[in-house]
Amino acid sequence: MGSELHQEPIWCTLWSDGSLKQIQLVLKMGRNNKPKGFKRNDDDGEPMDVIRLRDGIKKTVIKNDIEFFVQTTSGNNAEESKKWICPFCSLSFGVGISHVVAWESAYGPEKRRHFHNACWSKFQGRLF
Ligand SMILES: [Zn+2]
Repeated sequence: MGSELHQEPIWCTLWSDGSLKQIQLVLKMGRNNKPKGFKRNDDDGEPMDVIRLRDGIKKTVIKNDIEFFVQTTSGNNAEESKKWICPFCSLSFGVGISHVVAWESAYGPEKRRHFHNACWSKFQGRLF
């Protein structure tokens, strides 16, 4: 009984704190810290998926009676050396610039062009 009593004060303190759940969580987290490499892999994987999902939102936009499929992208998924030329202003830009990818729905995504966000909103008319 003596050894049982030895454990009780810990839980009594937690209860009287009114934060039993919080402290249990902290203890669990402490345990999870052990396989840290595994947890880190999860963290690395998740944001990538979120970015991909966000990039993957495809809209249909009609400009000048031409239907375009439009995707916004952070540009972070491409290789570092990747450069695009905006067909509206003819300036090139690189990875990490949030921009718009658009192609005529009559064509496929292989005909896609990369626009600056502002240029895409100004763009009217035929691309290809
Ligand atoms: Zn542009």
